[in-house]
Amino acid sequence: MYLKALEIYGFKSFPDRTRLNFKGGLTAVVGPNGSGKSNISDALRWVLGEQSTKTLRGARMEDVIFGGTQLRKAMGFAQVTLYIDNLDRSMPMDLDEVSITRKLYRSGESEYKINDQNVRLKDIVELFMDTGLGRDGYSMIGQGKIAEIVSAKSANRREIFEEAAGISKFRYRKNEAERK
Ligand code: ATP
Ligand code: MG
Repeated sequence: MYLKALEIYGFKSFPDRTRLNFKGGLTAVVGPNGSGKSNISDALRWVLGEQSTKTLRGARMEDVIFGGTQLRKAMGFAQVTLYIDNLDRSMPMDLDEVSITRKLYRSGESEYKINDQNVRLKDIVELFMDTGLGRDGYSMIGQGKIAEIVSAKSANRREIFEEAAGISKFRYRKNEAERK
């Protein structure tokens, strides 16, 4: 499983529909300060379901929508689609490619899609559980994250190992079942 492409439209500094194609292996994003490198990783976190505005480096969720420049007016929504190569069937779907879409309107209304079908945020979070890739996975290591892991309480550190071992889904389901 690997990230094949990321399509960004109206998200932060990307008012034009922008598609980034990734190959398997290592990709580096380079560019001058303020050119949007971190906005790309924010888009990736966001489409995976990130709900923390702090993690997304904003004050309100609306801040992810292109806010306009002197030459260009603000947009009414932000949309990001992630395409994942699933030839190895890491994700529990009989499809070679899986796409995930998140859209947010300035009104506050949200849309989430898996393979172009409307779903809930919960479905996206569940899809990535135990893959390490999801919102709460460990595949996106931001600044300060290593220090956070090292100094974490043992119970929190255990969650990271549970995700890697592929058992967080079971704990999640158990908790869900107990809540009902
Ligand atoms: P550095 O090398 O300094 O880390 P960077 O390439 O990571 O820079 P980003 O933080 O990705 O840069 O991009 C910052 C730019 O994105 C700023 O110019 C900021 O104005 C712009 N930006 C952020 N949010 C929005 C938004 N909602 N609308 C328009 N522009 C935005
Ligand atoms: Mg940056």
